[in-house]
Amino acid sequence: MATLADILTVRTQEGAAELCERYNGDWVRCYACGHECRIPDGAVGVCKVRFNRGGHLMVPWGYVAGAQCDPIEKKPFFHVEPGALAYSFGMLGCDLHCGYCQNWVTSQALRDPRAISGLQAADPRALVEDAIGLGARVMVSTYNEPLITSEWAVAIFKEAKAAGLATAFVSNGNATARALEYLRPWVDFYKVDLKSFDDTRYRQLGGRLQPILDTIERLARMGFWVEIVTLLVPGFNDSEDELERLTEFVARVSPDIPWHVTAFHADYKMTSPGDTTTEMLVRAADIGRSAGLRFVYAGNIPGRVGDLENTRCPSCHALLVSRHGYLIRDYRLTPTGACPSCGTTVPGRWSDHFEPQVASVPFSPLRRRGLDGR
Ligand code: SF4
Repeated sequence: MATLADILTVRTQEGAAELCERYNGDWVRCYACGHECRIPDGAVGVCKVRFNRGGHLMVPWGYVAGAQCDPIEKKPFFHVEPGALAYSFGMLGCDLHCGYCQNWVTSQALRDPRAISGLQAADPRALVEDAIGLGARVMVSTYNEPLITSEWAVAIFKEAKAAGLATAFVSNGNATARALEYLRPWVDFYKVDLKSFDDTRYRQLGGRLQPILDTIERLARMGFWVEIVTLLVPGFNDSEDELERLTEFVARVSPDIPWHVTAFHADYKMTSPGDTTTEMLVRAADIGRSAGLRFVYAGNIPGRVGDLENTRCPSCHALLVSRHGYLIRDYRLTPTGACPSCGTTVPGRWSDHFEPQVASVPFSPLRRRGLDGR
C-alpha cells in the first residue's frame, strides 16, 4: 500500500529557480525556508516535502489538504479589511515541529504516524473560483507552513490577484531573503508567529530565533502588511523579561505592527502547562504597550479581555473597530482608514467601506464540484 510520502512524491513539480541552487554535481540547496537545506540526490529536506530528484528540487504541487472559509480575524489580521471572508487553504508539512501545534494533523503529517490527513487534487483557478463563489475577498495560505509550499501558493495567488482578490501568508516566519523576494509581488499581508524571544526555545521547536527576526525586519522594509502573533504558553515564553525583549524588538521594527498575544490551551504533545488565563494575557498586553506598541490585542478568550479585542485610535482613543471574537460589532473608520473623530490615519489595509461579514465563524463549504475543477 502506498504511504503518504509515496503519494506526495507524485504530487510535485520542479521548484522555482529563485528558491534553489544546484551545486557540486547533483546536490541542491533549498532557500524556501531558514533551514536552507543542502540536499543530496534522493534525499528530502528537513520539511520532508521538498526533495532532490536527480539534481532537481521537487516541491509540493496540485493538491490541498484542506480549504475552508475563515473570518480574516481568525488568521488573525485585525488591520486588514475587517469582516472579510478569507478563503484558507493548506498543504502538508512544516519545517518546525512545535509540541503545541494546533494544526499538527496537517503540519506533522509526514513526521507523526498519528497525524492522519487526507488530501484532494486541486487546481489554482478552481480554488479561486470556489473562493469568489463563496464571497471571499482574501486568499490565504495557512494550516501548514506556507513557505515550504511557496510555489503552489504563488500559482494560486497569481490567479487570485488577476481576479481582484488580496492574498496572505500565515507563517512561522522562518523565511529567507530569497523567499521573500520571490513572494513579494504576490503576497499582500503576512502574519508571523513569533513564538519566543529565546533561541534555546526555538531550537526545541526545530528552528532558530535569528531567521524569524530577520524575516520580520525584511517584511516591514519590503512593504508587506505585517501582523505578529505570540501564543502565550505559561512557563514557556511568558516571563516578563522575555516579553519585554520581544515587544521592544517589534516596536523597534515598527510601533505600528499589530501584536496579538493569544491564549494557549493544551494541544498535541504539550499538555502539561495550564491554559493561559485572562490575567496573563492582560499583563502581557501591558508589557507590549509599555514597549511602545500602539496596537496590542488579546485573543482566544472572546469577551473576557475587555478592550483588548478592539481597535482604538492611537491619538484620541476613539473606538474604531469593536469586536467580539471574530465578530465585528461596530466599524467607524473613514473610507481612507482614518479616525472619524480626530483624523489620525490608522495603519493597515482598509476597505473604503465596511461590508457586512459573510460569516463570523469558520465554515467548510459544501461544494458541487471538486477543487480541481471537475
Ligand atoms: S523548505 Fe526549508 S526545510 Fe524544506 S527543504 Fe527547503 S530549506 Fe529545507
